[in-house]
Amino acid sequence: MTGRVLVVDDVPINRRLLQAKLEAEYFEVAQAESGPDALKQIAENLPDLILLDVMMPDMDGFEVCRRIKADPRSTHIPVVMVTALSHVVDRVKALEAGADDFLTKPVNDLALFARARSLMRLKMMMDEWRVRESATNRFELGTAGTAAAVDCGKAAVLLVASPGESSRRISEVLAKDEDQVTLVLNAAEAQVATRMQRYDLAVVDFAIGATESLRLCSQLRAQEQTRQLPILAIVASFESPELAKALDIGATDYIVEPIEGSEVLARARTQVRRSRYYELLRANYERGLSLALTDALTGLYNRRYMEQHLHELFARMRVSGKPLCVVLGDIDHFKVVNDVHGHAAGDEVLKAVAKRLAGSLRSFDMVVRLGGEEFVCVLPDLDLAAAASVAERLRQSICSQPVPIDEDGNAINVSISLGIAEAGPQEAAMAVIERADQAMYRAKQGGRNRLEIAGNERRERLAAGA
Ligand code: GH3
Ligand code: MG
Ligand code: MG
Repeated sequence: MTGRVLVVDDVPINRRLLQAKLEAEYFEVAQAESGPDALKQIAENLPDLILLDVMMPDMDGFEVCRRIKADPRSTHIPVVMVTALSHVVDRVKALEAGADDFLTKPVNDLALFARARSLMRLKMMMDEWRVRESATNRFELGTAGTAAAVDCGKAAVLLVASPGESSRRISEVLAKDEDQVTLVLNAAEAQVATRMQRYDLAVVDFAIGATESLRLCSQLRAQEQTRQLPILAIVASFESPELAKALDIGATDYIVEPIEGSEVLARARTQVRRSRYYELLRANYERGLSLALTDALTGLYNRRYMEQHLHELFARMRVSGKPLCVVLGDIDHFKVVNDVHGHAAGDEVLKAVAKRLAGSLRSFDMVVRLGGEEFVCVLPDLDLAAAASVAERLRQSICSQPVPIDEDGNAINVSISLGIAEAGPQEAAMAVIERADQAMYRAKQGGRNRLEIAGNERRERLAAGA
């Protein structure tokens, strides 16, 4: 994995040392010599990871970190504080400033690389959601607010540990903050627990056995319902070989024994905050997606979605050389339904027609409500003859059974007129739809409730030398 790291330190030799180590692991490295310099570079280049010295003359690392995390454009960039201070109060202060991790000088290489990789992996995932969110909502980046603003209280924590002094201390500390802590003794019990309820955080004490703990981490990552669950590993020492493995497999953070209560609390808060922020991005994205790209009445894709994806489908068709057909349908005398039975009945008819169309097609065919009582079906990989028989089946699915329009069991007969066109090898998507529309218009003129097939008039004209 490669990524861009910004190393912030007022001492040139420290910067060069970290740069050399990171470049040897194929990271791209930039340097900043002070807090203000760092903030300027972050705004310009948005790095993937920031290694931040704590003691600097103009502005200390805590302050720089707070500013990074308070800015919606940089709140998601992981920050690792690097300092000679190893006192626990400073670690907690760093985490409270929003830092994602803490390394003490001299920096242990293994811990550095493992943290860098794990934090970058997380960041890439977040980036993806942020991009999707802004693409679907067309909002400015940061509508989900900042990670720092996310409420992280009252978390459900799964503690996997042996009963004893340290698990009792951890439970006590977390419970003080109104977290609900469930203690389980081994991996099997943890599996059962995660199936029964949703957790915000798993704390895995590796004292239950390194192999078992590692297997549990990897199982939690592999399963759908716990894929995003943060895992806080508790290990005996920095030198524990299982620490690097745990971070590689997907533990999101770790604590080294002896455990300090306030550090447990600060790290738990950071993990919960991050996972809730991620949930928020995802929920925003999904809501934005469904509002922006589907039709509220029928649940079908809307015109906007079609315009985006038709383009892609046509590009794929040109590469593969496979055929592609477009069917355009318009409900017959729909205005009469509204006029005679009311608008609500009209809506019922639209929903029923949408359902019948979608139900008669393959899962990868695209069904779109173009607007009003007009629908488009895009059928990849079918030539005109095969697609026409599918379209004929669509027509029959609409008229073969009356559509219920109210709770009293009233139903009316509905029919649809269809036009179908096969895309020419170089033809633009909208031109094919236009030809299908002309064919549909002929179906209306020819008496409705029928299918008309578009010839390629333009190609025929060219062939005739016109
Ligand atoms: P034709 O057979 O020639 O297609 O006749 P038509 O009556 O279906 O066509 P026309 O275009 O004259 O009327 C379409 C009607 O569809 C008019 C409009 O009020 C109605 N309509 C459009 N969108 C909706 C909707 O969301 N709900 C309901 N109930 N009616 C709608
Ligand atoms: Mg109509
Ligand atoms: Mg119409």
